[in-house]
Amino acid sequence: MALPEISLEDLDNDLDLHVNLILSNLSVSPEKLKEIQELTSKDKTLCQIIQYCKNGWPEHKRSVSEDIRPYFPLKSEIHVINDIVFKSNNIIIPESFRNTILDIIHKGHQGINSCIRLAKTAVYWPKIDSDIEKYVGQCNICLSFRRNNSKEPLLHHDYKLLPWNKVGIDLFDFDGGKYLIVVDYYSKYVEIALLKCGFASNLVIVQLKSIFARHGIPNIVVSDNGPPFNSSEFRSFAKDWDFQHVTSSPYLSCSNGMVERTVGIVKNMLKKCHADKSDPYLALLMYRNTPKLNHYSPAELSMSRSLRTVIPITESNLQFKAINNKQVQETIEKQKVNSSFYCNKNRKQLKPLSVGDKIMFKHKPNGTWVPGIVSQVGPEPRSFIVNSPEGSFRRNRIHIIKPSHSLDLSENHGSLPSSNTCDDNTSDVVDNTDNTDRSRYGRVYKKPSRYVESC
Ligand SMILES: [Zn+2]
Repeated sequence: MALPEISLEDLDNDLDLHVNLILSNLSVSPEKLKEIQELTSKDKTLCQIIQYCKNGWPEHKRSVSEDIRPYFPLKSEIHVINDIVFKSNNIIIPESFRNTILDIIHKGHQGINSCIRLAKTAVYWPKIDSDIEKYVGQCNICLSFRRNNSKEPLLHHDYKLLPWNKVGIDLFDFDGGKYLIVVDYYSKYVEIALLKCGFASNLVIVQLKSIFARHGIPNIVVSDNGPPFNSSEFRSFAKDWDFQHVTSSPYLSCSNGMVERTVGIVKNMLKKCHADKSDPYLALLMYRNTPKLNHYSPAELSMSRSLRTVIPITESNLQFKAINNKQVQETIEKQKVNSSFYCNKNRKQLKPLSVGDKIMFKHKPNGTWVPGIVSQVGPEPRSFIVNSPEGSFRRNRIHIIKPSHSLDLSENHGSLPSSNTCDDNTSDVVDNTDNTDRSRYGRVYKKPSRYVESC
């Protein structure tokens, strides 16, 4: 039996039904719909597409102009209803209206991927994904609330195989007392001094003078950037006593790691002595006289001899002893590689920064990210001077974000992008994919790349 013939009138009715269905499904206000219609009529590319939809598309992609080419493979999905161009059920947004749509999509400040998924439920234009990536990547609100940078790979302090050439200094409280601690990077020989009344510059300086008079003046003294080490008295002391004073960035106590660890060891020792009422000075003497993994004790590395303790010892074991520096060096290198390998598993190298870079930085360690401009790089590794309307601040790289897109610091968003971009959460990280190793569970271990502790 022959199929019933479809009249042109029926076909028109069907099309009207289809058009009405799409239009009735459009959750767009009449004003916005009118705006899209008007802007579509002014959009050269979309006007040409409307013509192709009416009169037929050319057979070959090369026959259409550059701006039409991205639409050519989609031509079977493209249609025009009421002067609005659709790709299937999604409105193709004219170029001049795309920033408005991006603004609407990013209301609520969702992440890049959520915004892309949201956009795909309603609208379309070529490179919409990368436009969304750039728009979200430039949103100052999102940047200001971005989560903290991941820790960077360990940088180990470089030091010469020379006793008391480079020392770390710090202050700590114990049992109501205030203490100064000085540790030699090479020998790990530790000096502590009780400060009678607090951490005033002059008290700390007097104790340091006493220690330096005993061991010699170090070439480099490393401390944090807090008081009293940031005082003018301390600067004068460094100048008069001819040593280089290197400080770590604010809010980054871990960069003075060797001293921090030694403070932990010494405090633990003092606690135990306090608990069993034993002599803390004897404990300190034992610590200085105990061989480390490199087979030498801090006393041996510092003064080429063992110290007499209460342990019975022969005189020959108290004689001067030559230090095998090659052996010490090998142990140090081995320890660096081991600690870097285990500590760097979850750390990521952040992108380098240059003077003039527009960045976001942490004004307060627990605050939001605020805009600024890099005005100085270094001199300490990973340390930067950042200028902002509130003033100049020194910050470590971990407290700075370098957005993947140039920042418009005056407004929330810049103009529309033209190129592809990467994810906002990983954009600040150097791509080290070639420098990876995998565990037996498939997790990626980053192999160590540098061995200098961060400052
Ligand atoms: Zn945002």
